[in-house]
Amino acid sequence: NSASKPPPTPSPLRFSKFFQSNMRILVTGGAGFIGSHLVDKLMENEKNEVIVADNYFTGSKDNLKKWIGHPRFELIRHDVTEPLLIEVDQIYHLACPASPIFYKYNPVKTIKTNVIGTLNMLGLAKRVGARILLTSTSEVYGDPLVHPQDESYWGNVNPIGVRSCYDEGKRVAETLMFDYHRQHGIEIRIARIFNTYGPRMNIDDGRVVSNFIAQAIRNEPLTVQAPGTQTRSFCYVSDMVDGLIRLMEGENTGPINIGNPGEFTMLELAETVKELINPDVKITMVENTPDDPRQRKPDITKARELLGWEPKIKLRDGLPLMEDDFRQRLGVPRKN
Ligand code: NAD
Ligand code: UDP
Ligand code: UDP
Repeated sequence: NSASKPPPTPSPLRFSKFFQSNMRILVTGGAGFIGSHLVDKLMENEKNEVIVADNYFTGSKDNLKKWIGHPRFELIRHDVTEPLLIEVDQIYHLACPASPIFYKYNPVKTIKTNVIGTLNMLGLAKRVGARILLTSTSEVYGDPLVHPQDESYWGNVNPIGVRSCYDEGKRVAETLMFDYHRQHGIEIRIARIFNTYGPRMNIDDGRVVSNFIAQAIRNEPLTVQAPGTQTRSFCYVSDMVDGLIRLMEGENTGPINIGNPGEFTMLELAETVKELINPDVKITMVENTPDDPRQRKPDITKARELLGWEPKIKLRDGLPLMEDDFRQRLGVPRKN
């Protein structure tokens, strides 16, 4: 009779489903800017158990402090270039420095993180049958020759430049994802993320939105890198997290662009920050860095059609939300 039957052997494919209905989710790079907001959102669902693996290169425990000690949360100090043996159902693979200052600081480490780190997470996904999402980047389009960029564009990338550790690294990471998918049947998702901003960005990581907001609050000149006519499109972090979760839960492998199509020149961005945060601040033109893409704007038709996703927060509404967080961390309250 059924009472004397031994319990079924746990499937190596869906560990937590055997023990409980919870979904066990690994977030690599979860102590970073986007990762920590993703963790906040995933933790809102009581069926999710979240494990963060991070080496704290650019992230911080502070970003996760409200979850430390929570029974559904675990934080592991781990470098993804080393193998990781755990049991999970889903992997959001974000681990990689995103700011040029940090990814150029140790380029060899950056490319190892992109290539060996992604290989390890794919090996893990293969062993346990987990679905894996890679946060790739608009940088795979390089200095694009088509505008706006849709996912079918192969890019215009310098293989030997100072940014290559990052953009070529992510291109190889995408290749690995598709090879594991075709060769081993791994369920993959690839998001091509465009410039994202919001609370918890590193204050001194050199990215343009964090630089301008910190400069405006400190009343230092906003440093527009020449010529200032180069464009970017900025997505608020809550919209980004929503897009990543929809991609993971949906049926499409991607790659899918996730970003805000509102396009601004760096001079326009400086003017907007000046108007919203500090009308007295000066704007100054400084030298640019090599290989800086001249224009970037996502075509998000695919995200709209396949994920039912589009960003909700306009730059003018997102900047003040980020200002509050920066003022708090810089210890400079608003005047009125
Ligand atoms: P971030 O630097 O704040 O976060 C990255 C996290 O990864 C940090 O917590 C860092 O400590 C961790 N990390 C780095 N190397 C690691 C390693 N070897 N092992 C373990 N952990 C490691 O950056 P972010 O802005 O949150 O970016 C997250 C992801 O999104 C990255 O993969 C990045 O390439 C991608 N992305 C971000 C943007 C953006 O505008 N922020 C744009 C395109 C793509
Ligand atoms: N890997 C890992 N965790 C796992 C399984 C594999 O980190 O649970 C790593 C493993 O160390 C290897 C990589 O993922 O370097 C690729 O694994 P795969 O099994 O695909 O390749 P192989 O080990 O056969 O080279
Ligand atoms: N930029 C700028 N002032 C700064 C920092 C950056 O004008 O203080 C410019 C930079 O030249 C680039 C754009 O802002 O054209 C976006 O740079 P960021 O490093 O934020 O992102 P990415 O180049 O990776 O898109």
